[in-house]
Amino acid sequence: METDYLVVGAGASGLAFADTLVAEAENVQVTVVDRDQAPGGHWLQAYPFVRLHSPSAYYGVNSVVLGEDRIDEAGENAGYYERATGEQVREYFAQAAVRLTATGRVSVLTGHEYLGPGVDGEQVRDLDTGEVRAVRVRRKIVDARYLEASIPATHTIPFDVASGARVVAVNDLPSAATTASSYAVLGSGKTAVDACTWLLDNNVEPDRIRWIRPRDAWFYDRRHLQPLEQVGTMIEGLSLDAEAGARAATIDELFEQLEASGRLLRIDPTSPATMYRGTMLSARELAALRRIEDVVRLGRVRRIEADRILLERGDARTSPETLHVDCTALGLTGAPARPIFEPGRIVLQQVRHLSPCFNAALIGFLEAHRADDAEKNRLCPPNPYPASIEDWPRMMSRTWRTEARWLGEPDLSAWVAGSRLHLLRGLRDHATEPSVQVPLQRYLTHVTAAIERLGQLDGSKSPGPELTDQVNKQKRKERARTPRVYSGGGSIR
Ligand SMILES: Cc1cc2nc3c(=O)[nH]c(=O)nc-3n(C[C@H](O)[C@H](O)[C@H](O)COP(=O)(O)OP(=O)(O)OC[C@H]3O[C@@H](n4cnc5c(N)ncnc54)[C@H](O)[C@@H]3O)c2cc1C
Repeated sequence: METDYLVVGAGASGLAFADTLVAEAENVQVTVVDRDQAPGGHWLQAYPFVRLHSPSAYYGVNSVVLGEDRIDEAGENAGYYERATGEQVREYFAQAAVRLTATGRVSVLTGHEYLGPGVDGEQVRDLDTGEVRAVRVRRKIVDARYLEASIPATHTIPFDVASGARVVAVNDLPSAATTASSYAVLGSGKTAVDACTWLLDNNVEPDRIRWIRPRDAWFYDRRHLQPLEQVGTMIEGLSLDAEAGARAATIDELFEQLEASGRLLRIDPTSPATMYRGTMLSARELAALRRIEDVVRLGRVRRIEADRILLERGDARTSPETLHVDCTALGLTGAPARPIFEPGRIVLQQVRHLSPCFNAALIGFLEAHRADDAEKNRLCPPNPYPASIEDWPRMMSRTWRTEARWLGEPDLSAWVAGSRLHLLRGLRDHATEPSVQVPLQRYLTHVTAAIERLGQLDGSKSPGPELTDQVNKQKRKERARTPRVYSGGGSIR
């Protein structure tokens, strides 16, 4: 077997990369392998009530729309852009793989595990037959599993479970729920939020739910992550980031300001929150979650017995009739940054925050249009996933510094502006509206100072004169009311 690119992983990242690469590069052959039996990555094993937490409008691969860009009329997401269910995401990636295959330039081999290099090429095992095949890769291996998600269905429960204690993975909650008298949800993140919300939606009274939260988390208000017709809300959110970033002297001050402005939310405003993983909630979800008052904050669970839970900082009572729901899988991994473009290898990673699919597609675009790895890495430095509030300054300042570099690259800026995966895709259609202009001006007023201040809070370098100058140039242009702006998504026409 021969191929130009061997992509390891047919999740969102591997498919979004392959999709843009074949759209932008001529005469390349791509082979995507995944050890799972279908494309879609972690979505294949997701819990039954999972949904995208972000709108479908900017999720998936660049060339295929997900959903209908509809605004929901009812439920907790009312007024916001639709969010696909897990099943819809799986169907979508299956169709995307079929479309890629139909180009004649991409092969998607599911049920195939990449083993590493061998003497006669890269080794791939067919998991049905056990046969190991050598693949000669003419150009590059693309590692689309470096940030592989750790999910409830596949992670190992990180505490002991004694006999008599009832513990299920969140995937089994719907089937196990009817036989429990009360529930203890374990975990601080989005999966635990989803488990609590599912219980409340299924008429479990809040006083039958105990929430064991090792840490409290920050969430974006979903109203600030709406695209297209509501793109002004997205700019509003970015302007609040920039304003807080420019003013805060410490991380605590930064988060105080982000909360005071309504940009970030925490479930209990009286408890310090240290976790930040870039997920979001609507005001309605938040109000529902606040009805759960029995919150245990004694650190991580060490052991669950029939009548007590042992935690890092103490014990809590429980009972054999209580269903303990494990939501402690990490989700996004904290793999350390490494160069995205290396000789013979591309390692897909986050570049711009909150944009996993966009980032993979962007890397595909650069692979197609730039020859030099140093130049590609300059335009695409890695930006590891955040886990705590200390990561926020680095994540934001790297995003903004990188986007400033894109401004000097007209072809890249044009691609960003037109990409359906771009958070600010609606901006060019709404750039002159007051709901966009007002936050845009606030954003432009603060972003340069924010880059510098956040760089200091992060202990990393300030952006340097070249980038600051580019941002200032863009600000002058915008003040002259040209429709091209510097913003959270790079250059938008
Ligand atoms: C529950 C959940 C909800 C999320 N919701 C959102 C959201 O709403 N919006 C958003 O933007 N992001 C969201 N994310 C972030 C998420 O990480 C991305 O959306 C994306 O799906 C990750 O895809 P991936 O391809 O990087 O990784 P994965 O989906 O983990 O895919 C990696 C793939 O690599 C394969 N693989 C690994 N090793 C090998 C090998 N040796 N050989 C062959 N194949 C291999 C695996 O089988 C897997 O299919 C969510 C994440 C989680 C966990």
